[in-house]
Amino acid sequence: MKSYITTPIYYVNGSPHIGHAYTSIVADIMKRNRRALGYDMMLSTGVDEHGQKNQEAAAALGMEAIAYLDMRCKEFREVFDLFDVDYDYFVRTSRDAHKAAVASMEQTIFDKDLIVKKEYTGKYCKGCEEFKRDSDLTEDGDCGLHPTMKIEESKEINYFLKMEPFREKLLQHIEDHPDFVQPNAFRNELKKMLAEPLEDLCISRPKSRVTLGVELPFDPDFVTYVWFDALANYLTTINWPEGDYSAWWAECEHLIGKDILKPHGVYWPIMLMAAGLPLPKKLSVHSHWTGEGGIKMSKSIGNVVDPNEVMDLMGVDALRWYLARHMRAESDSQISVELIRQTYNSELGNKIGNLLSRVAKFSNKNFDGKVPVAGALTGEDEALRKLVLEAAAGFGEWIDMPDIPARIQAIVAAADAMNEYIDQQAPWSLFKNEDTRERCATVLYVTLDCQRVLFEALRQVIPGSAEKALAMLNAPAPASPWKAELDKLPGGNPLGEIDSLFPRVNAPEA
Ligand SMILES: [Zn+2]
Repeated sequence: MKSYITTPIYYVNGSPHIGHAYTSIVADIMKRNRRALGYDMMLSTGVDEHGQKNQEAAAALGMEAIAYLDMRCKEFREVFDLFDVDYDYFVRTSRDAHKAAVASMEQTIFDKDLIVKKEYTGKYCKGCEEFKRDSDLTEDGDCGLHPTMKIEESKEINYFLKMEPFREKLLQHIEDHPDFVQPNAFRNELKKMLAEPLEDLCISRPKSRVTLGVELPFDPDFVTYVWFDALANYLTTINWPEGDYSAWWAECEHLIGKDILKPHGVYWPIMLMAAGLPLPKKLSVHSHWTGEGGIKMSKSIGNVVDPNEVMDLMGVDALRWYLARHMRAESDSQISVELIRQTYNSELGNKIGNLLSRVAKFSNKNFDGKVPVAGALTGEDEALRKLVLEAAAGFGEWIDMPDIPARIQAIVAAADAMNEYIDQQAPWSLFKNEDTRERCATVLYVTLDCQRVLFEALRQVIPGSAEKALAMLNAPAPASPWKAELDKLPGGNPLGEIDSLFPRVNAPEA
């Protein structure tokens, strides 16, 4: 069983931001989930190094393009490592094999007479790096995605891919494969994009304007339009066309933000059809992050969440937890450093981390540094164990992108139940009396073993902290493939060193 998950490759004309963090972290969670289920996994992420925007960013710093790209690429890789994203392949579109494959795909399509050269006059958005129809623009004549960039009237000779011959076929594919685009809101949006005849897609840029790109194999005066080049990475990463790519390709799932639905849902499938290649299995689309109050993040408002700042303040798992837990499936979600801090303190700190250190420290002190040995279980014990097992079992089953918040919510609910159980059972009181000491041991064992199960599941979400928690419990290595199981923490086993898992982070002084 294989599964191949891709993130978009990111433009390197700026530093990694919260949107990059989100898609990559969610991809990582899905990879860890499927690997736990026994799948053979491939996760690719990386950077898009071509196009006018990168060329201009290098020029603005007075740098040679190559030196600029190396610098940015290193920065992205380092940040993704800090995010704990366990990628298998880091894409660079400047790689020779990638460029050769892009050119070969273009030649194949050109040879089928599906690419035409013509003069085109139109409105061009530099942000999108594409021509816009009037119906694509706002009432003020701006690009909705780039309201601060001026739309320029542009007249150019270029090469165009014929799109319309494939429109009906693509619509049919979407009908026949309801899972091809998910969630449904975005499937419907894509169908709307395909409801009207499609204009030819401009796939070149004249070298007089853009030099940073893959030269067209049939005309050296042009480079490839950056989207055509970038999208092909999903195939070149698995060694198309030379290697044994087809088994991975058949299981390919693209994770994307809704802003790039059109390139992935229209351009890319039609490029593949034109080249005679099968389509990927699935597009999983997510919404965007906004600042508090639903206000778009912007430097001028000062509500931009910098992932590095969050990690410095609270650690990577505060960031991973918030992102994974709070994205709604079909609408935008709010984020701020303060919201992350509150969630971190209340859930990871108070509900999950404190309970572990309280119970483990108490066991350590009163049971000779060992996991207490359980006696007979009561109905309350069994009820808690059932609830925890069911919550953790959600991570022993396949998780699609929109399922992630609910699976984590189940873990939080289980942690609430554990806190309630401990308050009711009060092992600290039970320990004081010789007659109830065995009952105390049972309560502690039930709690520690339940925590082990939850942290095994949470390895998929907050791997660093979960491994640390399992080390505190000195839990045996979980089986692989994994499923949630009770009673795997041996009673009488020595505990590991107990530390605070999620130290409280106070609000910065005003
Ligand atoms: Zn734009």
